Amino acid sequence: PPAPTIALNNDVVIPQVGFGVWQVPEDQTAKIVRTAIDAGYRSIDTATAYRNEAGVGEGIRSSEIAREDLFVTTKLQNSDQGRSATLRAFDRSMDQLGFDYLDLYLIHWPLPQLDKYIETWRAIEELYNDGKVRAIGVSNFQIPHLRRLMSETQIVPAVNQIELHPQLQQGSLREFHAANGIVTEAWSPLAQGSLFSDGTIGALASKYGKTAAQIMLRWHVQLGNVVIPKSVTPSRIAENIGVFDFELADDDMTVIAELDRGERTGPDPDTFNLA
Ligand code: NAD
Repeated sequence: PPAPTIALNNDVVIPQVGFGVWQVPEDQTAKIVRTAIDAGYRSIDTATAYRNEAGVGEGIRSSEIAREDLFVTTKLQNSDQGRSATLRAFDRSMDQLGFDYLDLYLIHWPLPQLDKYIETWRAIEELYNDGKVRAIGVSNFQIPHLRRLMSETQIVPAVNQIELHPQLQQGSLREFHAANGIVTEAWSPLAQGSLFSDGTIGALASKYGKTAAQIMLRWHVQLGNVVIPKSVTPSRIAENIGVFDFELADDDMTVIAELDRGERTGPDPDTFNLA
């Protein structure tokens, strides 16, 4: 069965578990997206930088599920920040995907050194006001970036998609999001595999009769995070959405809370400036 949904700040709803396609090769993307939809996923997370938007569109069109029953996210790549580049990049993404509207458009990275995210966001606000995208958000924004965005522009981001997993629990950002009605979306929700042999997670997996991946994803779900795990293995794709038939006890949520080490697997958004 499809995952439950969470309401964004404009009442559009997003499925709490979606399917991420970073590093899925373009020539496999359509097939893998179709596999995920057949397994119950109703949300797909891609990005221009992943070079597989066309495969996402093709996989969706090959499925039995209507476009309006799916939630599609793509992201503005770093080299397209700025007003006119953003407007052009959005059109290119829509051509690649082959859709006439998008569900969620994100600024992929803030690139504070480039200092164009305000101008870029204003262009994304135009796309939203023109009805081309149902919700708009950001990715990898830190609190100061969000504060500046909210003080200099009109629309509060619906989502901030950030690296978040038991080793990097992002307490202050999650609190800031909650206080401002921004949904927290976790990328690398499984810490890219680095916690599969962790003893604490393993013990919980045995206790609940679930896999390590399911324990971590269930932890996210109970915190209220949206998650977008990635796998190209059909059994794991199905496993990762099978987290709605059990519940972690409060003390087990606490046990996972204690794994926080503030350790990133990906780049630091304050210094990442790759165009
Ligand atoms: P992830 O945490 O989802 O881990 C994926 C890895 O775990 C893969 O190598 C996969 O082989 C393995 N795996 C997945 N399910 C498993 C299971 N049930 N059992 C055993 N192994 C399993 O990492 P990710 O792919 O980096 O992140 C997920 C998605 O987040 C990406 O596909 C992408 O859509 C998004 N993302 C966004 C950003 C961003 O900057 N906004 C950055 C990275 C990723």
